[in-house]
Amino acid sequence: MTDEKPDQNAIPCGGCTECCKTDQVILRPEAGDDLEFYDLEYIESALYPGQRVPALKRDSRTGHCVYLRDSGCAIHGRAPWTCRRFHCARMFKALGRLSRAKRDILWARGDVLEEAIVERGRDRYGYAVEHGLDGVLDTDMQVAAFERIIAATPRRR
Ligand code: SF4
Ligand code: SF4
Repeated sequence: MTDEKPDQNAIPCGGCTECCKTDQVILRPEAGDDLEFYDLEYIESALYPGQRVPALKRDSRTGHCVYLRDSGCAIHGRAPWTCRRFHCARMFKALGRLSRAKRDILWARGDVLEEAIVERGRDRYGYAVEHGLDGVLDTDMQVAAFERIIAATPRRR
């Protein structure tokens, strides 16, 4: 018998690869990502206003992550920190901690929330709740990231 606690991997993606198709993954050397290893480019990001940050390249034809294959992630064992940390269920749960007005700001930007991923998050969060896994989804870091983006977003008059 094992007393290992479940983690977010207990919430299955079920063959979905939506976030590999839509999100551009920012690399985080401070979290251990080896920039020498990845096919990357420097981009602007809502999370780091005024900076250009390293991110996995996208396939110019499909727009998907360059490492996405029909069988899934080609670098599964070495996927960047963000890929290992991200879960749409966590993102959906974190959105639920924001006020409606703050969620509206994120939607209005157009570069933070993807409808398909939010919908997938709603589904996977439902699965998590149904299976008693809500507790594996810590959201403080995600909420803090959303709050930083909101604070850096100019208000429309
Ligand atoms: S969108 Fe959600 S279910 Fe789909 S691959 Fe990403 S984390 Fe998994
Ligand atoms: S590195 Fe792998 S897990 Fe990360 S976005 Fe690309 S295909 Fe998906």
